[in-house]
Amino acid sequence: MGDEMTDSSMRLAVVGSGYVGLTTGVALAFLGHHVVCVDKDTNKLSLLRDGICPIHEPGLVTMMRCAWTRMSFSSQLGDEVSGAEVIFIAVGTPSCSDGSADTGYVEEAAREIALAMRDGRSYTIVVKSTVPLGCNRRVVHVIQQTLLQRKCHAVVHVVSNPEFLSEAQALRDFLYPDRIVVGSSSPEGIEVLRRMYAPVLEQTFDPPEGLARPASYCLPALISTDPVSAEMIKYASNAFLASKVSFINEMACLCEKVGADVCDVARGMGLDPRIGPRFLLAGAGWGGSCFPKDTAALIALGQELDIEMPMVSASRSVNFRQRLRLVQRLQDVLKGVRGRVICLLGLAFKPGTDDLREAPALEIMHILLKRGAHIRVHDPMALQSARQVLCGLDVQFCEDPYSMAEGADSLVLVTEWPQYRELDLSCLAKKMRTPVLLDGRNMFDPRKAREAGWTYLGVGR
Ligand code: NAD
Repeated sequence: MGDEMTDSSMRLAVVGSGYVGLTTGVALAFLGHHVVCVDKDTNKLSLLRDGICPIHEPGLVTMMRCAWTRMSFSSQLGDEVSGAEVIFIAVGTPSCSDGSADTGYVEEAAREIALAMRDGRSYTIVVKSTVPLGCNRRVVHVIQQTLLQRKCHAVVHVVSNPEFLSEAQALRDFLYPDRIVVGSSSPEGIEVLRRMYAPVLEQTFDPPEGLARPASYCLPALISTDPVSAEMIKYASNAFLASKVSFINEMACLCEKVGADVCDVARGMGLDPRIGPRFLLAGAGWGGSCFPKDTAALIALGQELDIEMPMVSASRSVNFRQRLRLVQRLQDVLKGVRGRVICLLGLAFKPGTDDLREAPALEIMHILLKRGAHIRVHDPMALQSARQVLCGLDVQFCEDPYSMAEGADSLVLVTEWPQYRELDLSCLAKKMRTPVLLDGRNMFDPRKAREAGWTYLGVGR
């Protein structure tokens, strides 16, 4: 596909070039649209302009190269943005101290976009960030106020289009989604998005190398609704998935007490199509940039509206208890962790990413440090970001799991990177002072681990 405009290609702008914005921008450019990615972070932009991806997301660099001639990068919402037909807002919505979502960046982006709009033009503004219910109305208000002050007569349609990608498979999720949700009071805005997403909705694109269309894939549904329902779909989906993980972790606690194996229990449950097998893996619990913040935001929203959210609250408590339980198990087997050398295998909040936001490993590490343990850490991808995030803490960063194990008291697997499956468990066990393996993701075969010389502890088995 060339860089010239065709009948179906559109000019797009994406404000915020983080995990969501960059993936969205790259994938839309791959589909033939012309995309300008905007970000305030000039370091990020200079990397991007050099063709370097600031995040680790499988396939993103290759796809970016493929779509390069249709992409540009900018730190300003200038001419390129005002010439776009569709402008995405994909900035962060971090937690405020009371748990509610901070929409400050979204509103700031909306204002800046309105300042860049041109008289007489029509724009569709797409809110991709995860925002609290009613935020779409705020965005409409901010844009209309700014246009009024500028005496600018632009036609604006605002559409909520929540993002469901999971990091480490973001491109697959973008190209082969289960559904695309669009919420707006403007039918024109929804039609613009239908046109923009047509290659995905109709699956007319040639799959990129390494990302073949799944054999059983069916065309995705376009769920068109009102803005608040679209916002709610995102929060409710995340809260449900988080609860599913917490549910199996709660069952895992009971399994440990009664001698059942939670892996078999989850398999037996998951084969029931009403339940499904995904998100039923007992372990160290959930983390990342979404579940913790979005469940907190839901509870805060409930408080604001005088609605208790006991299920969401319980899922958060179970998740935190899970970290404590892992530490407790180590304490029990090591007879206290003070002065013990504990190695964490995996830091990223999940395999396939270098994202450390709310990573279970960091929470476990902080509890262990507080209790006087010496901490060594390894991660195949996230060590560099960990050095920045954990700067000043008494933590030893290790490039290799075998040297990390030298003279240590316990190895705790927190992130189930596939390469950890290939570790030579016998060799590792021999290097340890006390070979205690806490498998926080039930990744290893307990029998093989024991044969390799480990005291093996799984979760709920
Ligand atoms: P991120 O922190 O990785 O990226 C946000 C980017 O926006 C940053 O690079 C920041 O510099 C930039 N930014 C902030 N204000 C700006 C402005 N006014 N102009 C230009 N750039 C600006 O965040 P993310 O993980 O991509 O998440 C973005 C949103 O998407 C959040 O609301 C998040 O909850 C939601 N979301 C994230 C995921 C995920 O897996 N990361 C999945 C679904 C939804």
